[in-house]
Amino acid sequence: MKKKISIIGAGPGGLMAAMLLLSKGYDVAIYEKEPAVGGRTGRLLLDDYIFDIGPTFLMLPQYMEEVFRLSGRNIHDYVEITPLDPLYRLKFEDGTEFYPSTNTQKTLSEINRLFPEEAANYLRFQQDDQYRFNRIERCFKLPYDSIYDFLRPGFIEALPQMDIMGSLRGRLEKYFTNEKMRLAMAFQTKYIGMSPWHAPSAYSLISFIEHHWGIHHVTGGLNQLTLAMAKVVQEYGGRIYTATTVKEILTKGKKAAGIVIDSGEKINSDYVIVNADFAYAMSNLLTDRRKYTDKDLKMREYSCSTFMLYLGVNKQYDIPHHNLIFGGDFKDYMDEITMTRRPSSMSLVYIHNPAATDTTLAPQGKSPIYILVPVPNNKASIDWDTLRPKFRQEVLDFIAAKTELKDIERHIEQERIITPQDWQRDFNIYNGAVFNLSHDLNQMFYFRPHNRSEELSNCYIVGGGTHPGSGLPNICISSVITSELLIRDDTGDPRWGFNKKVYL
Ligand SMILES: Cc1cc2nc3c(=O)[nH]c(=O)nc-3n(C[C@H](O)[C@H](O)[C@H](O)COP(=O)(O)OP(=O)(O)OC[C@H]3O[C@@H](n4cnc5c(N)ncnc54)[C@H](O)[C@@H]3O)c2cc1C
Repeated sequence: MKKKISIIGAGPGGLMAAMLLLSKGYDVAIYEKEPAVGGRTGRLLLDDYIFDIGPTFLMLPQYMEEVFRLSGRNIHDYVEITPLDPLYRLKFEDGTEFYPSTNTQKTLSEINRLFPEEAANYLRFQQDDQYRFNRIERCFKLPYDSIYDFLRPGFIEALPQMDIMGSLRGRLEKYFTNEKMRLAMAFQTKYIGMSPWHAPSAYSLISFIEHHWGIHHVTGGLNQLTLAMAKVVQEYGGRIYTATTVKEILTKGKKAAGIVIDSGEKINSDYVIVNADFAYAMSNLLTDRRKYTDKDLKMREYSCSTFMLYLGVNKQYDIPHHNLIFGGDFKDYMDEITMTRRPSSMSLVYIHNPAATDTTLAPQGKSPIYILVPVPNNKASIDWDTLRPKFRQEVLDFIAAKTELKDIERHIEQERIITPQDWQRDFNIYNGAVFNLSHDLNQMFYFRPHNRSEELSNCYIVGGGTHPGSGLPNICISSVITSELLIRDDTGDPRWGFNKKVYL
């Protein structure tokens, strides 16, 4: 008889684990509290306007191709993925605009136009980070169940490249002298909700990955990826129960035995996989915990949060697909938001204008404009319900002053705001920290919650809260590691089941 697996949450992590395990013959059911799949990588519909809720940058699409391939599918039969060139527009406080590209010659001509002294430094940086990437990437693809996993030859070889005592900012200072150039290679830590002054030096790999491998768009939005995953799950006979909230993980001694859903029904299963936000799930779905107690979870470091404005506007703006607009003192701002203080000024606003490349998201002549402002998580105790209208206005004033969207307020037909409080309340995200537990080295690898639960046997974790971390490429890796561990435990076969190439 097929072994039964219950998955809590239909975010990309839960969906990809389901695809992989269904393809290996397991009986999988996903329970999702929302009426639709996708979680943070879901779709927001406001009348005729279609928005991505969260991710808009698809990096390393080859990782997702690989998860589909391992599940017996070709991702390109489901979605259309297009690389963007230029990657984005960076608009600095003095109005300078920088358009990097995966085409090195184009990026160099931009650098020569703006900061000619940095051209050779850029080439050296890219070359050095290619070397680091080739070594460090492998470490992310291993499970870290035991402290001895750090002794694997691949990890030891990569260790000097990780520069564990250094910060990203420190590394950039060794290469670049121009502040704007440094900012252009550092702001990417916003993707993991950290400050470049605090983020480990290894995260310079994010800008390397962008410049080398590119940023991709999916026609219809990145939410189409999770819709495609759900389709594969259903094609394999997997069941997805939406609008079904899991209330508890059932246990038998120290073993997971199933789940209880909001109707009170108990569903027995051989294995449980938790995809819901890790710290939320531990504190709400499992009462008896040894390691991740309420006190422990409270003490941990979390990423920043985001204030989101989704605007359906009856106009199209002639601006690029991705726009990062800087203002004020970036260091002070990052310190404030990551140390959970109300920022005194606005220093980074991201504007997503997918209508620049995709006509499927709004009626002709209209566009869905998505605005993201990094803000502190709810440890800052900001009353966003009260602050919401004032902050909204500050954001609109900022973009009116700094961009071509001067008249945007007059063109808004549809609008939705998500604040850190909403992320916590409506999306079940602990502290509203949308990029999960922070990615400090003391919360990475073995020190991050393991893919195989440390609380219960027959229970596994998948998604941004476990190894290797937040962001779609990491979540692809986590889905393979988690599924692999479950199969190994189930079959007693210590060999890698999916694809040896994925591991060392
Ligand atoms: C604003 C924003 C922008 C981002 N931008 C990018 C980007 O450009 N590129 C990138 O790669 N990454 C980006 N990310 C990160 C990325 O979205 C996340 O890392 C990823 O979606 C997390 O996936 P997950 O599977 O861990 O969890 P989630 O997507 O959060 O899925 C968890 C699911 O569990 C469900 N759930 C919760 N509680 C229960 C319960 N009790 N019962 C049943 N179901 C439950 C939730 O409803 C949700 O569907 C962004 C995130 C945000 C928020």
